[in-house]
Amino acid sequence: MVECCTGIGLYIHVPFCFRKCRYCDFYSVAVDYRDRGFAGTASDYAGAVARELGLYLEMMRGERGELPRLTSIYLGGGTPTVLGGEALARIIGEARAAFPTVDEKLEVTVEANPDSVDTDLLRQLSRAGVNRVSLGVQSFNPQILRTLGRVHTGEQALDAYRMIRGAGFDNVSLDLMLGLPGQTRELLEEDLRQAVALSPEHVSAYLLKVEPGTPFHRDLEAGELTVPDEDQAAEIYSRAVKYLKEAGYHHYEISNLARTGRESRHNLIYWENREYLGLGPAAHSSLREEGRLVRRANVSDLGEYLRRLSSGELPIESVERVDRELEMAETMFLGLRRMAGIRPGEFESRFGQTIEEVYPGVLERLTASGLIIGDEAGIRLTGRGILLANEVFIAFLP
Ligand code: SF4
Repeated sequence: MVECCTGIGLYIHVPFCFRKCRYCDFYSVAVDYRDRGFAGTASDYAGAVARELGLYLEMMRGERGELPRLTSIYLGGGTPTVLGGEALARIIGEARAAFPTVDEKLEVTVEANPDSVDTDLLRQLSRAGVNRVSLGVQSFNPQILRTLGRVHTGEQALDAYRMIRGAGFDNVSLDLMLGLPGQTRELLEEDLRQAVALSPEHVSAYLLKVEPGTPFHRDLEAGELTVPDEDQAAEIYSRAVKYLKEAGYHHYEISNLARTGRESRHNLIYWENREYLGLGPAAHSSLREEGRLVRRANVSDLGEYLRRLSSGELPIESVERVDRELEMAETMFLGLRRMAGIRPGEFESRFGQTIEEVYPGVLERLTASGLIIGDEAGIRLTGRGILLANEVFIAFLP
């Protein structure tokens, strides 16, 4: 027995940034978006995304007869705001129009960077139906921002936040990074204090992970960069979560906190292992076909992406059919990322077997190690389990 389609989330990757940050391994290309010529690139990109959506929906219609209900749109990147209000509004408008059924409470999020928002753009986004803005702040500290290679200052982040509020957005998320080079306990608290003083509805707080291939990785290998070790990182993370919880934020996922009712609806799709369609270079999709989730990854190359679409082809690089065992494991470990955890009844109605039947002895072992806790509300990570989450996740892998 497998869960039926409860709707679908749409992710649109915008692969442009003004400059690459030194820690970033997301696919994006550096562009001077203030140059007049970029408007043509932005418009071509919006056209390519519309073509890709059309091709995907045609494929899905052939597959399942009717299209699922659209429940969220998330424009991420890269830096979506460099695309400009017109191209973003066009993408959103075409996405909404392409689905015959759209959720009444459609959540439309746009990620924004402080250096590329202005009042006109925000008004255009609001008119286009954007109802959530996720602002990439990372830190307010000038030295840390320089080390990260961010293009904005702390003051620009504060100004951008005020502009977003001024444009009427009542659902704003701030992205902060933890465990940064040079981020002392005092500087971390100062970042948290400034974030909380703005009173966003949502805060994402991710520990820095130094990814291979990034300038940070090279600096680390060369001994020119110092980052916290595992124990220090765990302490930093715990301190940040405690601070935000005391400020009234509800800790609902390992790295995400929100005012009640302001959890990200789009990201819940990933943690509940539900269906999403990803457009743009390097985007991923997870769609149910003949009872199985099928994952597709797009090419991570803007030129190739545009070329494929101009010849009427989907820009897919790889396809993976997720078998039942893997889907069950993913549902366990993605679900455990949520602080509410997993409801055993939901697992059973999705897969037709209980968690104990599928993973005999595993819950007992993890409970005895103090990593999870189970009661009538669900199975959840303990405080220790959050810090050792990878150990828990591995226990469910086939
Ligand atoms: S702005 Fe975001 S996507 Fe762009 S380089 Fe920096 S971290 Fe990466």
